Amino acid sequence: MNRSKIIEQLKSSFDVFIIGGGITGAGAARDAAHRGLKTAVVDMNDFAYGTSSRSSKLVHGGLRYLENAEFSLVFESVSERRILMNIAPHLVNPCGFIFPVYKSSRRGVFAINVGMWLYDGLSLFRSPKMHRSLSKKDIVKEEPMLNRNEFRGASLYYDCATDDARLTLETLLDAEAHGAVVANYVRVIGFVRDAQQNISGVKLKDEITGEEWETMTSTVINATGPWSDRTRDIEGRGDGKQRLRPTKGVHIVVDTSKLKLNNAIVCFHPEDGRVLFAIPWGDRSYIGTTDTDYSGDPKDVYASTEDVSYLLDAANFYFPLAKLEMSDVIATWAGLRPLVSDEASEDESKISREHEVRVDKDLLITIAGGKLTTYRKMGAEVVDKAIEVMRTIGRLNKKPQTANTASEPLLGAIGWSEDDDHQAIAQTVLEFSNDLISRDTAELLTNTYGMRALDIAQMVVTDQALAQLLTPGRHEILAQVDFGVKKELATTICDFLVRRTQIYFRDFSQGLDCCELVANRMQQLLGWTPERKQKELEDYRLEVSRGRAWQVD
Ligand code: FAD
Repeated sequence: MNRSKIIEQLKSSFDVFIIGGGITGAGAARDAAHRGLKTAVVDMNDFAYGTSSRSSKLVHGGLRYLENAEFSLVFESVSERRILMNIAPHLVNPCGFIFPVYKSSRRGVFAINVGMWLYDGLSLFRSPKMHRSLSKKDIVKEEPMLNRNEFRGASLYYDCATDDARLTLETLLDAEAHGAVVANYVRVIGFVRDAQQNISGVKLKDEITGEEWETMTSTVINATGPWSDRTRDIEGRGDGKQRLRPTKGVHIVVDTSKLKLNNAIVCFHPEDGRVLFAIPWGDRSYIGTTDTDYSGDPKDVYASTEDVSYLLDAANFYFPLAKLEMSDVIATWAGLRPLVSDEASEDESKISREHEVRVDKDLLITIAGGKLTTYRKMGAEVVDKAIEVMRTIGRLNKKPQTANTASEPLLGAIGWSEDDDHQAIAQTVLEFSNDLISRDTAELLTNTYGMRALDIAQMVVTDQALAQLLTPGRHEILAQVDFGVKKELATTICDFLVRRTQIYFRDFSQGLDCCELVANRMQQLLGWTPERKQKELEDYRLEVSRGRAWQVD
């Protein structure tokens, strides 16, 4: 995958041009490409740079939407959860969720159980596993660290956990495999118009080389999440009205030696009653999220000291034995919910999570809101709209095919076994590497890349030096840098350490201990000058320090 070739391809013309390589743009690109439409998707930064790498990383039905009787939203989400488990089994994994009930809880054990039956029912009883009730005795076994003071009972139900950034990336790679042109670090800086003032092209800027050009297209989809109002206003084209009311959500990561969980725990903040999750994450656990209004530039969203202390208060209430302190926080992430504004709602956590598709007078199509979980359906809906627009103005010159996005597996799932046995596949990867990697590395590669882990094992067999660990004590290896650059368009150190892998969030040094090694390898692979390498390292260190800016001296 050669970036300059991709940039050349971006100079041709398209049926559908998508701005934004988050999960929404990725879903639209995959859908359009599967329908045989000539498709391009660009991101001004890396893929999933925005909210799509900063979510709670759950593919879920949204149990709490039952409270507002949003049954259709829950039904759609649980149906999509099932589809994603099928097309991306390596990335979308069942996870137990415990909903504990205390004397002070708003709902009693009976009401929660009714909700659970409804939840399983809406999934047509095809949840990853059916829910069950837990007694105090069960909870001691399941979650020994959970607060049992005034505990009345609990329900254990199942949803899924994922790697949001990689789900986005694999969706884009699948779009590319179906003919889409997919580019990161390309910014849309303006629009081209025809005689009727309808948008007929985009002005683009390569953020790496500074080159600017115009590309013609029949339709443009604005899938820029929290940036979507800004995108509508590029070159002052919009009406200046704010359609989004973004809210900020923060998560914190701690080591399992401090907080060990077997299941995700659903809890309510002891002060304001907001819903929070504590989620097991392999060698780590994370806790989130906050939910506060945010009006700044989306690129400047980071955790504050108040955010971290709010989350620690909740964690220490529910897990008193953990005695978590600020110094236990390894990393944080903060994202913006691109929520469609609802004037009538005063409480942030009650704003609708559903999405909106809107077509402006000059035919810019904007999709905003929604969830990671429902991205596939959102993609189909916005592409339907693009086809309708093309048909109306006589720009549709072929009959779109049917998209099989619900049944065709993503790249890492091609060849994945039906029994979904990660361990057995990891064993195959290990053997394929001629035991040049450890069992832990084989598991990590399998869970990260699915069947494409075999390609990485092959790289190691060809060049044994690539089996080198990136950080002592962790399991990532040098071959992943090669794979990231050659097969996954990793262009900067941040791309690799934050989104192709999760080293930034999981490593105690947040990748500072291995960023030189990664930089050296990327320099070799990408032909960076010494100055470029230095700049990349500075950028990475700055990203770590911005993520740690909440720390008080
Ligand atoms: P983004 O991911 O933000 O993508 C927009 C992209 O547009 C960015 O990458 C940006 O660089 C690019 N862009 C902007 N301007 C331009 C331009 N001019 N040119 C080119 N590119 C541009 N959903 C779930 O289903 N499960 C969850 O567990 C969950 N948890 C969440 C927790 C939090 C804290 C938050 C904030 C959201 C959560 N969500 C969850 C919702 C979900 O994450 C979002 O709905 C989704 O990620 C939004 O994706 P997006 O593609 O619309 O936006």
